[in-house]
Amino acid sequence: MKFDLQNSQQMEMDINNDIERILYSSQEISERVKELASQITKDFDHKPSSFPVLVGVATGAFLFLADLVRKINLPITVDFVRVESYASGTVSNGKPIISSDLKCDVIGNHVILVEDIVDTGNTLSCLIAHLKTKGASSVSVCTFLDKPSRRKIDFELVGKGKYYCGFECPDEFVVGYGLDFAEMYRNLPFVGVLKPHIYK
Ligand code: 5GP
Repeated sequence: MKFDLQNSQQMEMDINNDIERILYSSQEISERVKELASQITKDFDHKPSSFPVLVGVATGAFLFLADLVRKINLPITVDFVRVESYASGTVSNGKPIISSDLKCDVIGNHVILVEDIVDTGNTLSCLIAHLKTKGASSVSVCTFLDKPSRRKIDFELVGKGKYYCGFECPDEFVVGYGLDFAEMYRNLPFVGVLKPHIYK
């Protein structure tokens, strides 16, 4: 179903039609993002020689990254990588490809990878390995959602990297707050479970 973004009434109708239930409301997300940002501020404040580079994984992490960086009270830089791992539909093809690399040099830097969701772990392990070869002195991960029950591959953080997670997510296909299905639903301000008949 296509959204007519000019027509908020129609958008409401489509949301009601396509979303089975809301998992995390806009308010819950905003409170959790604030907590993550203050933890990151605290953890990286003692490393003044090298403030972190936050690397957003496009496209899904764009809203999370935008909200997170505005709450981090440190000088930071921001960059993006783009990874293709879902041929189409809802199942990863297991072979992530970096289709657009970082623009900045991360040699000797503390990198925080900002992800929308960690599912099998394939994307993350590929990106961590990539950042390691680029010479990052530490690689941390800050993921908005994590589905630990779906993990197929373990990943190791680099240096004294830390793992931050917004919410542990049940094994259901979710959309909103940056997460899509077929490039839609990213603009929903909450995270909801998509009705299975939409993607099956
Ligand atoms: P992984 O490589 O960990 O299997 O997959 C990570 C990517 O899968 C995420 O960046 C995201 O794009 C996609 N993904 C995994 N689970 C979901 C989900 O429930 N909803 C959406 N929209 N994307 C998901």
